[in-house]
Amino acid sequence: MSLTPEACAAIHWDVIVVGTGMGGATVGYDLARRGRKVLFVEKGPFLHAGFAAAPAGLNEQIVRPATAPENALEPEAAERLAGGRWPHRVRARTNLGELNFRVPTGCVTGGSTAHYAAALERFSPQDFMPRSNFPDSDDSTLPEQWPVSYEEFEPHYRAAETLFRVRGTQDPLHSGGDSVLLEPPRLSPRDAHLLQEFAASGLHPYRVHVGCDFVRDCDGCPHGPCERNCKRDAAWTCLIPALIEHGAFVYPDCEVTRINASATVADGIICRQGDTEQVLTSEAVVLAAGAFASPVLLLKSDSPDWPRGIGNQHDLVGRNLMFHGGDFVAIGPDEPLSGEGAQKTLALNDFYHADGQKLGTFQTLGLELNIGQIMQYLRETAESSTAWWKFLFSPRPVWWRKLTSPIVRLGAMVYFYAFNFRHASVWVSIVEDLPYFENRVYPDPVNEHDVLIDYRYSDELKRRVHALRDRLRDALGRRRLMVLSHENKIDFPHISGTCRFGEDPASSVLDRDNCVHGMSNLFVVDASFFPSSAGTNPSLTIAANALRVSGVIDDVIDRKHAAMVAG
Ligand SMILES: Cc1cc2nc3c(=O)[nH]c(=O)nc-3n(C[C@H](O)[C@H](O)[C@H](O)COP(=O)(O)OP(=O)(O)OC[C@H]3O[C@@H](n4cnc5c(N)ncnc54)[C@H](O)[C@@H]3O)c2cc1C
Repeated sequence: MSLTPEACAAIHWDVIVVGTGMGGATVGYDLARRGRKVLFVEKGPFLHAGFAAAPAGLNEQIVRPATAPENALEPEAAERLAGGRWPHRVRARTNLGELNFRVPTGCVTGGSTAHYAAALERFSPQDFMPRSNFPDSDDSTLPEQWPVSYEEFEPHYRAAETLFRVRGTQDPLHSGGDSVLLEPPRLSPRDAHLLQEFAASGLHPYRVHVGCDFVRDCDGCPHGPCERNCKRDAAWTCLIPALIEHGAFVYPDCEVTRINASATVADGIICRQGDTEQVLTSEAVVLAAGAFASPVLLLKSDSPDWPRGIGNQHDLVGRNLMFHGGDFVAIGPDEPLSGEGAQKTLALNDFYHADGQKLGTFQTLGLELNIGQIMQYLRETAESSTAWWKFLFSPRPVWWRKLTSPIVRLGAMVYFYAFNFRHASVWVSIVEDLPYFENRVYPDPVNEHDVLIDYRYSDELKRRVHALRDRLRDALGRRRLMVLSHENKIDFPHISGTCRFGEDPASSVLDRDNCVHGMSNLFVVDASFFPSSAGTNPSLTIAANALRVSGVIDDVIDRKHAAMVAG
């Protein structure tokens, strides 16, 4: 028997966690493990509960109404939600033009980690002192340092690596101590060859840190939730153990629409499932709806105590929005070796810092090359080079032009690349995006569910993306490298920074423990808290931070219980 929404509302919870992604599931798991009465509220469906690997007894931990609520979404949005993807639109005003799109983040148990490639890398110690990496970026709001040092984070990195069963080998260039790593899977002949070849040319490749058990026939689940409890997403790793082993509950298909709070204390939330609205109460509220949704929820929770939205007295909620820049790159092997096997395999950080600049990491993407990417490459190349148009429309010699039409010539070109790169390995570069006050996310006043973004893709970011591309071309060989992505690629799933933490309430939304400045029990533990984005994958840092602050939240609940007993 699952819990009914009415029974759920009758319980006064120790903690309500909004969102079950990397931050939410991890912090809720740790609090449930400490014996707290935890309720997760998740806007998306509980897809994992439908998979064969779901453990017995799971249904009893799910809040469900007697009859399923009506779905009022338009067909395209409903289809996305059924697949665990964010259903609503984002309208972005950027210096590159206007965009109107559905963000590629997750809306499901596990959040975006249900779709992620599971690269779980640490930030470098220098990332915790971001201003020193960019001394000339005066227009950015980069702080001198994070309010918590790398040394303070380090034990939580270790705990997160253990929890997510991270596999890989040590990065020889990382200066922050050894990671806790399980053995990685065997390399394909192609990747073994690449590893050797890169090392022989003086680079420092290593086995990328991945949260995946690589069970038989594992393909890394690059296109959605893992059905076999193999990819270490936040649902399999934290949410389901919290429910089954530690008595937590989850309320899926339920959207939190408001945080109820006085000037200093949050009492709980208002949430909605179908047409039914409910008030739920708790000792502490943890917001982990992701860096798009958490600031929007704070801004929408205005009241006489918080006329501009909770935590927004200095107009900082939603600002300092960051993504990552970078490229998708195909590397053709110099020998036609098979790439069959695990795809998320290798990484190198030789250009994380290069020639006095902060660039970023380079790692395998986890996907095979497809014809669409080759077409994209050809289109980009054609657009940026007149030589290509000449070849297609006025080629020499004349007999060749007479014999072939542009379509045939284009076909020959596609064939040439598809053949040459048929064994290619696809990589991604990740370049740090800097925070700017004017880059922000905020609620769309017209469409209730939609979100607006103002974002300037800075010239400075563009320069560093190109600098990394050039370093890679020099190191790996120009002819072997095919840049697949378009110019100015914005890595939307790596969103962060919209409720940054810091010591000073005038320049940050959260304090060093991720509690909203001035409040005693409202925490934000998703990617919003980053004051800088570093040059690598965000998820391990989100998880490590969630484990760091769960002890603080536990103490807050203790104090509230003690006050209740005393008073
Ligand atoms: C395709 C893809 C590949 C990626 N690959 C990697 C990778 O290899 N390595 C890496 O480190 N990162 C990767 N990422 C990014 C990573 O998944 C995110 O950085 C991380 O999951 C963010 O965690 P979070 O807690 O901030 O939010 P999320 O994981 O996005 O979770 C937020 C949750 O909150 C829920 N929610 C939102 N609003 C509400 C509301 N109002 N009420 C209730 N619930 C709500 C959402 O439905 C969602 O489930 C990838 C992302 C994608 C999409």
